[in-house]
Amino acid sequence: MIKAENSAAAIARLARELRFRLEVNRLFGWQVPLRGIRLAAAASRPAAPAGKRIARRPAPAPPPPALPAPLPEGERARRLALLAALDREVRACRSCPLCQGRTQTVFGAGDPCARLMFIGEGPGFDEDRLGEPFVGKAGQLLDRMIQAMGLSRREVYIANVVKCRPPDNRVPFPVEMIACMPYLRRQIEIIRPLVLCALGSTAAKALLQTTESISRLRGRFFDYQGIPLLPTFHPSYLLRNEPDKRLAWEDLQKLMRLLGLPLAPGRR
Ligand code: SF4
Repeated sequence: MIKAENSAAAIARLARELRFRLEVNRLFGWQVPLRGIRLAAAASRPAAPAGKRIARRPAPAPPPPALPAPLPEGERARRLALLAALDREVRACRSCPLCQGRTQTVFGAGDPCARLMFIGEGPGFDEDRLGEPFVGKAGQLLDRMIQAMGLSRREVYIANVVKCRPPDNRVPFPVEMIACMPYLRRQIEIIRPLVLCALGSTAAKALLQTTESISRLRGRFFDYQGIPLLPTFHPSYLLRNEPDKRLAWEDLQKLMRLLGLPLAPGRR
């Protein structure tokens, strides 16, 4: 009898896991394997030469924070006002040559009291046109990644290292990033999220002041002025490198654990 109950519970758990994985596949657009089953694409990828294999020694994840204290009355309005004032400064900024090619600045968007803040590289063609971060194809993938975590775009904050579009979507030059970083630092100070997620190499290197590659940085927690920071792949990279969505999903799950978000279905 006990055995029958155990197998019924195991089947129910498996069904829940399968439903959850199908939902993640739908949102995130890749094949999440069931435990013990490897992706064909990942399995067929050639192994890195022995001398170049990346040591997998991620830093231990910070413990989940205690439940956030309720915000004092007026705090949301205070942060919105501070962000609006900073946005006005950014709109008037001509501190680096990127101002010459912009249609408009792209400040950032989302919840001023967000617990999770994503940071990308800079505006592209669509963002420059619309004044919103991450609105092109990469933005649609980021939306699905956020949804797969059980959140919505309105519940997080999204910003970039530089606020003006680099010509031809090139990587911003160091001098441009140095000129623009004070704005991002102030955005982070105002929002004070529980955790930061750097999307891609440029954001990770700018925030961590390192030259290490994103392949080495991703999936590990670092400290950014007292805030845990986890780098992962940029959605644009993931659009071109489908098999690495598996690694990005592992990174997002680390963020979910830190934020206390359930990893199973039926969560919201
Ligand atoms: S990229 Fe940043 S520093 Fe350069 S002009 Fe735009 S807002 Fe100013």
